[in-house]
Amino acid sequence: MPRPLRRVFDYSLPADLPRPKVGARVRVPFGRTEVVGIVTGFAKTSSYRLKPVAGVIDGDAFLAPDLITLASWLSGYYHHPLGEVYATLLPSAARHGAVPDPRWPLSWTATAGDVEGLERAPRQKAAFEMLRDLGAAVPEQELPALGIDRRTLGALADKGLVRSAETRPVYRTERSPISLNSEQQAAVSAIKASIGTRAIHLLDGVTSSGKTEVYMRVIAKIIDGGGQVLVLVPEIGLTPQTLARFRRRFGAAAALHSAESDSARLRTWMQCRSGDHRILIGTRSAVFTPFANLGLIIVDEEHDASFKQQEGLRYSARDVACKRAQLLEIPAVLGSATPALETLANVARGRYRLNELKSRAGGALMPRFRVLDIRGRRLRDGLSDPLLHAIRRHLGASNQVLVFINRRGFAPTCLCSSCGWQARCADCDARLTLHEVPRALRCHHCDRRYAYPDACPGCGAQTLVHLGTGTQRVDAALREQFPGIPLYRIDRDTARSPRRLAAQLDDIRQGGAAILVGTQILAKGHHLPAVTLVAVIDADNGFLSSDFRAPERTAQNIVQVAGRAGRAERPGEVWIQSYDPANPNLNALIDHGYAGFASIQAAERRAARLPPYAAMAMLRAESTDAAAAVKLLRLAAGVIRDAWDSHRREALGGPPHGGSGTAIETAEDSHEFELMGPAPAPLARLRNRLRYQYMICARRRRSLHAVLSALETAELAVPNVRWSIDVDPLDTF
Ligand code: ADP
Ligand code: ZN
Ligand code: ZN
Repeated sequence: MPRPLRRVFDYSLPADLPRPKVGARVRVPFGRTEVVGIVTGFAKTSSYRLKPVAGVIDGDAFLAPDLITLASWLSGYYHHPLGEVYATLLPSAARHGAVPDPRWPLSWTATAGDVEGLERAPRQKAAFEMLRDLGAAVPEQELPALGIDRRTLGALADKGLVRSAETRPVYRTERSPISLNSEQQAAVSAIKASIGTRAIHLLDGVTSSGKTEVYMRVIAKIIDGGGQVLVLVPEIGLTPQTLARFRRRFGAAAALHSAESDSARLRTWMQCRSGDHRILIGTRSAVFTPFANLGLIIVDEEHDASFKQQEGLRYSARDVACKRAQLLEIPAVLGSATPALETLANVARGRYRLNELKSRAGGALMPRFRVLDIRGRRLRDGLSDPLLHAIRRHLGASNQVLVFINRRGFAPTCLCSSCGWQARCADCDARLTLHEVPRALRCHHCDRRYAYPDACPGCGAQTLVHLGTGTQRVDAALREQFPGIPLYRIDRDTARSPRRLAAQLDDIRQGGAAILVGTQILAKGHHLPAVTLVAVIDADNGFLSSDFRAPERTAQNIVQVAGRAGRAERPGEVWIQSYDPANPNLNALIDHGYAGFASIQAAERRAARLPPYAAMAMLRAESTDAAAAVKLLRLAAGVIRDAWDSHRREALGGPPHGGSGTAIETAEDSHEFELMGPAPAPLARLRNRLRYQYMICARRRRSLHAVLSALETAELAVPNVRWSIDVDPLDTF
């Protein structure tokens, strides 16, 4: 049942209904409504008074046996109700009982036509050029994401500039014109040799080292053998360019991402299930797609945080991909230039096989790093004089400069210098960020917007000041410093339209002096060969944060942004401004690259007994009433302590522990098991809900599971409190 209930329900099957298969959808009465449930099995007897099944939707199993097995694993590993796991697996149309449309969608292609007549129709011209440059047929459901609407398309079709076809995809595997270098060759051979086994590979390759080329060689082999391939990519990485690259190479590729309509998602699901589609490229939830004959799963940019779902079933698509591959006895390939510490630890433990690509394909050089000590220097809008000087030098040589700052808006703090008033969100415990275009104060947590006050709401003085620096402030400052130089700001506010982003990136790739100001969106996937200087304005926030994962994320961002720059004849420079130039993490990164940084971080995590050297879960409770949320966590604490006591006695044979209710972090326990909380979450109030949390850390994963299982069966409940378990949390602070 698609309900947060940790049990299944019994129904009787009326004689006039066909007997559904396990995994089929049925309509059943539930309370006062009718819901769509999944059949999990049959029983001869039941101790309940049974209601009859109202209808059987599928003649066959809608969820194939391998997904049923995966669902049970998910429910156990993430301690999440099975019914909600099924609901998460299914495309939402399927969840509501929809039957898929068996027709093939139309795909659109640009013809060899001429743009001559389109000068006065800029939308048509842009749409035509986009389709032409992609060089592959685009299914109609992807057109909205490209910013191409029906009218524009119709007008182009009338002029014979685009044509559509409703055809089944035809996959082909032509030989690639690229000859692999020896590292690529070794990786391809190792992965190919493991086809049909449950090997998990890490493809650890610096940016632009030709990882995608490696994937494609292995994909060709799988397709030639009649198999299918699932490629998972981060949300932002699913650019039209990536898809088109696969379509040009293999003739077709299906795509699944969040912007797609429900019915399109369901149709793609069914085409993968039937085997008609051989390649699926998709974001997080695509990991649940059924396949007739899946032969390989690839997770590109495996370190990316977007693979972790942050609500409901809080799964990691990377980890689920590995589990699914193991269940199917097929290989998985995790690719990254900056692998997650979890993944590196799995390599060190011998669970994952390491394949390295240490040099960039095509001979480009890696950029040089340097730290710019800004202690005692005056910053203007976040920029130091030596940095401005370097920017001037690079622009003067007609090169491009990328300024990286992971904060959008103008300034993160707005306060009154007379009375100390601060602009804060009425619904959250958070400061408001000033945005200049359009001018407003915005809460980055709940998205609420506030008009910018004419005077201080506290004392009426005209003394509001803006502290800190965001992309808009850097944008404004650099426009003033370098008038006449094209400046592109790329953050979530400007990159909302993929078409606009693509157009901006096209302009940038034309070359010539230009400034790019952007957030981590710029760290993803785009190659920017004319960039010769990357400036990291604020690395200290990340390296000094109290969030234990922040240094890892910061290093990944810096390395990924740096990796966009430079080519053979123009190697790049990376300047990192810091008030803490002796920071060991920063220096390891500069001197020894990501691998050196990762080994220092790993040692720190090990010493602090944090993941990946401990199994962690967060128990979160939220309510409009703080006392209620705390009460739930206190009840949970009792359950956790009892469960830990009995688990230790049974499984670990440790000494019995004093009565429950006492603190359990005694000396002999602290290496095995730690509890922290209940404490307010770092963002203690969000949308007027108060949030509290409990962090549970165990040296052995089975200890963690024992404790979480006890929480599950305890059926904790306090009125008006929502609570959740997050296994392997990414956000802990
Ligand atoms: P990554 O996925 O690691 O970022 P890509 O596979 O996208 O790298 O490769 C980066 C660029 O180098 C692409 O333009 C690709 O066509 C090219 N390339 C890849 N392998 C080779 C090779 N062996 N020789 C020359 N060029 C290559
Ligand atoms: Zn004031
Ligand atoms: Zn808010």
